[in-house]
Amino acid sequence: MLFTDLGLAEPLLRAVHEQGYDTPTPIQAQAIPQVLKGGDLLAGAQTGTGKTAGFTLPMLHRLAAGAPVKDARGRPAIRALILTPTRELAAQVEESVRTYGKYLPLKSMVMFGGVGMQPQIDKLRQGVDILVATPGRLLDHHQNRTLDLSHVEIFVLDEADRMLDMGFIHDIKKVLAVLPQKKQSLLFSATFSDEIKALADRLLNAPALIEVARRNQTNESIAQKLHPVGRERKKELLAHLIKSGDWHQVLVFTRMKHGANRLTEYLNEQGISAMAIHGNKSQTARTKALADFKTNDLQVLVATDIAARGIDIDQLPHVVNFELPNVPEDYVHRIGRTGRAGAQGEAISLVCVDEEIFLKDIERLIKRSIPRETVPGFEPPAGEKAEPIVLGRMTIGVGGTKRHAYAGGGGGGGGRSGGGGGRPGGGRPGGAASAGRSGGPSAGPAGGRAGGRSGSGGGGGGGGGGGGRPPAGRGGPPKR
Ligand code: AMP
Repeated sequence: MLFTDLGLAEPLLRAVHEQGYDTPTPIQAQAIPQVLKGGDLLAGAQTGTGKTAGFTLPMLHRLAAGAPVKDARGRPAIRALILTPTRELAAQVEESVRTYGKYLPLKSMVMFGGVGMQPQIDKLRQGVDILVATPGRLLDHHQNRTLDLSHVEIFVLDEADRMLDMGFIHDIKKVLAVLPQKKQSLLFSATFSDEIKALADRLLNAPALIEVARRNQTNESIAQKLHPVGRERKKELLAHLIKSGDWHQVLVFTRMKHGANRLTEYLNEQGISAMAIHGNKSQTARTKALADFKTNDLQVLVATDIAARGIDIDQLPHVVNFELPNVPEDYVHRIGRTGRAGAQGEAISLVCVDEEIFLKDIERLIKRSIPRETVPGFEPPAGEKAEPIVLGRMTIGVGGTKRHAYAGGGGGGGGRSGGGGGRPGGGRPGGAASAGRSGGPSAGPAGGRAGGRSGSGGGGGGGGGGGGRPPAGRGGPPKR
């Protein structure tokens, strides 16, 4: 099948062709005809499958085919709203809207927190057809009456599972409440938990269901490898791999933002250009780091999981897990940054003895064993003993036995800490609402949201389980 077989308008085909794409990816081949029909859609697809074009192209087609809609003052009204969990993803989706819509007379805008409201208000005043936003800032504008959502015809919830993980359910419900009843709704999610199904039931009307990658399946075009290494020698090994492999574009994951900063400093000392992106960096710094990385002006981008969500970088050749994630699903998301849309990629994990516990969970989740390969000169020291890993307020113990949350950290505790190999916080720090969000390590969004807000806030604390951002916690950004 070719893009030309899908019934898309010529200006869209021209823009797609300019991107060098002739053949739709599986999600595109399925989603585009469904969305063109006008019905609701529930789509299971992770980042890297081409899902953004899967909803952007038919959305643009439908908007262009319909009569332009003006607000009371004669300016283009917002006819399509796309919600994303993070600022970075919002920016990337809007970039796709502009890329594919470049030959259409439609105006788009991206809106997220962490930057001034006024420029966004000015832009809204000029009229916008397609708005891509993170939920918090969208609601701020709505509350201030600087945003009119009464003309929305198409609503897209992108990475819905991530949104719920990050505690956005209340925000999403608020947004749904202010949207017109009659609209086309599309929900994209990499996984289908009961919460997602409940949200889909509420939002979607007799949706078409498509799914291109089974839950937690890792992409076959990603070569996965694991280097066992001593705890203290990971940095050296990473520098060695980058230099000896002549790697020019490497996305490196750490668990915590402090680790990201320390690693960045080390790499720069070694003559390797690196920058960190995480929740504590200003939006300008994050945008610049990402832009430099995309243009190959920056060799290494060091990111924490929340900061990296939704980052779209074409055919990224190398992803390195400098530290394994303590949430196994994050492994799948991390390595999804490479081998995108069919391109070959390599995902390498540097694993020390402390992380065996995470490794087991990951391999169980992906249902395969990751090939081990010791790098000569970097063999793990004989007899190195596992030490507990401290994650904010939580320690993950040795050998799957001793795990506890530190006292005094936000209460709640939540979760199956006693469950013979279970993990405090329900296995998903700051994760599933049922586990009680406040008990997770500070890495969890704990009532803040990764989309962030302009205020810095105290961070991380407060709030019992349930996953929303408590009113008092509006300023609390996630800590990773
Ligand atoms: P996404 O899953 O939307 O983040 O897209 C993943 C990547 O695949 C993006 O970098 C797209 O530019 C790229 N892509 C989208 N559609 C296609 C296609 N039909 N063929 C090849 N690459 C594509």
